[in-house]
This record gives sequence, C-alpha cells and structure tokens, in this order.
Amino acid sequence: MSGTAVDKEKFKERVRLWADKLEARVTSVSVRPMKTKWASYSTAGRLTFDSSLPELREALQDYVIVHELLHEKVPNHGKLWKSLMRVHLGRYEEYEQELRKTAAEKGFRQP
Ligand SMILES: [Zn+2]
Repeated sequence: MSGTAVDKEKFKERVRLWADKLEARVTSVSVRPMKTKWASYSTAGRLTFDSSLPELREALQDYVIVHELLHEKVPNHGKLWKSLMRVHLGRYEEYEQELRKTAAEKGFRQP
C-alpha cells in the first residue's frame, strides 16, 4: 500500500525545506513506486522518491532526502559526504542500516 495524498504532500514539503537548507537545486519532486531504489536525483535537479517512503518514520525520510540532495555537490559517498551527513542527521549510519533492511524486504538493491 502506498501513502495517502496528505502524506505525499507533507513529504514533498519536507524535501523542499531540506533543499532550501542545503541550498540544493530542485526543479521537481515526484513520489511514485520505484523498482530498485528509494530515490534518484538527476543533474537537472529532478528528484524522484519511492511512494512507500512517506510511510516510514521521519528520521528515515530525512536520511533519503539528505542523501540525495548532498549528491548535487558531492557525487560520491566519500569523507566529505559522510561528514555532511553527520552534521545534518547525527547518527545517520543507524538509519542507513534500517533502510537497508527495509530495502531488502522490498527487493530493492541497497541504497
Ligand atoms: Zn548515494
């Protein structure tokens, strides 16, 4: 089951707040069923999120949102990316673990 329209709108609002905070370019945000991963971010600033994400707890939503938005400036998961994740999310590795578990249950490849 996918989230309600209200959840979806709230989630999109959350994405926009994070985009402002991180000064990341976002031209569009869509939420729809994805087959292999939680989210994708194109260089043109188009963000797509899996429709089950708005149902997860907020810390996990933030993990996926911040993960993708940081890729605008940092294309890999190296030292800089990790330190920015920590600045914005704290103990982000815990959320990553939890998302991996959920992703495996959904049949996604790892985020
Ligand atoms: Zn990534």
